[in-house]
Order: sequence, then structure tokens, then C-alpha cells
Amino acid sequence: MYQYTQVKESTALGMDIKGVKRYILSLDNHVSIVEALTAFCKEKEIYAGKVSGLGAVNSATFRFLNPATLQYVDKTFEEQMEITNLTGNISCKDKKPYLHLHITASREDYTCIGGHLLDARINGACELFVEDYYLTAVGRRQDEETGLNMYKF
Ligand code: FE
Repeated sequence: MYQYTQVKESTALGMDIKGVKRYILSLDNHVSIVEALTAFCKEKEIYAGKVSGLGAVNSATFRFLNPATLQYVDKTFEEQMEITNLTGNISCKDKKPYLHLHITASREDYTCIGGHLLDARINGACELFVEDYYLTAVGRRQDEETGLNMYKF
């Protein structure tokens, strides 16, 4: 589902970076980004972290939360798109890694669409950087006012 390497934990000054593991990932073609990234986070037991990356997909489902009604509106786009930016965080919910991802993707006419990412299917490549703040675990709690799963510190 993915290949990866771990970034060596030393700087040009020869100092160790404490508390962060960094990975470079290449997700396999045609897989689900959320499925593959969740599997990686489970393998590495990442419960607090950061995701960023780029790639290409031919299907992506975005989610929009209407703050007035607290209703989710999901929409799937079935077309070839470049991921111009994928950004997100990793936390812990129900003792499992929990992904919160946002994406901007460009279409054939070079315009962009984006939003909260529910999932996307790779068609081409997907290259990600993952930072694991491995000395930390951050939970989630349901917030009544916003309907969101907020950080719980
Ligand atoms: Fe979101």
C-alpha cells in the first residue's frame, strides 16, 4: 500500500532532534489516501503528528460543514486532479490514529477545488511527509457548539 523511509534524526550541526520522527512516504497507485495513511499511522503508532504532501488523484470526496445547521455536505469529484496541497494532522480517537486532512486539487482547466478531505483515490503518485511527535499523544472530544471533533489536551 505504501513505501517509506525514515529521515535521519540529525541536523547539519550534528544535533539530535528530540521528540520527532520524520518519514517520507510514497503511496501506491490506485489506493485510497486515507486507507493507506491510516494503515501507516497504525503501523508506526502515531498519535500526534503532521502530514503534508502532493500527488494526483482521479476521485476525491470533500466534506463541508454548514456551521448554521451542523449538517455535513459531502461531494465527490470523479476526474483527474493534481493535489496542489494536502495538509493535515494526526491525533488519537478511540485508541486509534485519527486523521484530519484538508486538500486543494487542481483540475484540467487549472482551477482549484478543495476542502476537508474525506478520501481520495490516487491515480499517478502520492508523496507525503509525515512527522510523528512520538513522545506525545493528543486526543479528540466532540464539541457541542461546532459539531467538530476538537483537540483534547
Ligand atoms: Fe476539517
